[in-house]
Amino acid sequence: MNVILLGPPGAGKGTQAKQLEEEFNLVQLSTGDMLREEVKAGSELGQTAKKIMDAGELVPDDLIIAMISDRMDQAEGKNGVILDGFPRTTPQAEALDAMLTEKNIQLDHVIQIEIAEEIIVARLSGRFGCAKCGAGYHDEFKPTQIEGVCDDCGSTEFIRRSDDNPETVRNRLAAYEKQTAPILPYYAAKGTLQKVDGLGEIDEVYRRVKEIVSGGS
Ligand code: AMP
Repeated sequence: MNVILLGPPGAGKGTQAKQLEEEFNLVQLSTGDMLREEVKAGSELGQTAKKIMDAGELVPDDLIIAMISDRMDQAEGKNGVILDGFPRTTPQAEALDAMLTEKNIQLDHVIQIEIAEEIIVARLSGRFGCAKCGAGYHDEFKPTQIEGVCDDCGSTEFIRRSDDNPETVRNRLAAYEKQTAPILPYYAAKGTLQKVDGLGEIDEVYRRVKEIVSGGS
């Protein structure tokens, strides 16, 4: 089963992708996570991407397409992939189509997680994660049970994404509206797009996502 999760930043794509990955033995391919790894490693791509990501803009299509194409091949042996944060532009959607045809991979579900803009800003502004195990938290909606200690692994080190500040979030939303929202009709026209309400508890949203993937292939 191969799935694309679409939706604005803060819709919960990454969180839902992780749950799907675990339950269905899929591989989450998050271009955002890949770029953050490149930044951390200090690679040439990472250095180029860092400035763009901190400005809340989109990294050029050719760099993204090359990066994801490599990773698709690494997903062999699993039950399929969940694309999270890709495609984000029309050229990326077209390149993905070509890639899927070439690799003989069938796309089963394109799920758009819908969420209102004011909720996105509140969600992104307070989010942080454990630096050791990656567990996700939020100042207001999901604090750690003991302040300063990760519930899952006990680590006391946490990280916040540098692009989760209000100004960059506004730019990320603008990039979504201008460059990513136009790909929704592309998938709608193919008849593969299904919408999910992204409001509510994580498990509640996951039940909606699961209903879609379980109903199909
Ligand atoms: P994300 O973790 O998906 O919110 O992505 C974080 C940032 O990485 C975005 O704001 C973009 O700057 C960059 N990025 C991630 N995926 C893509 C993509 N498919 N195309 C262009 N830029 C991307």
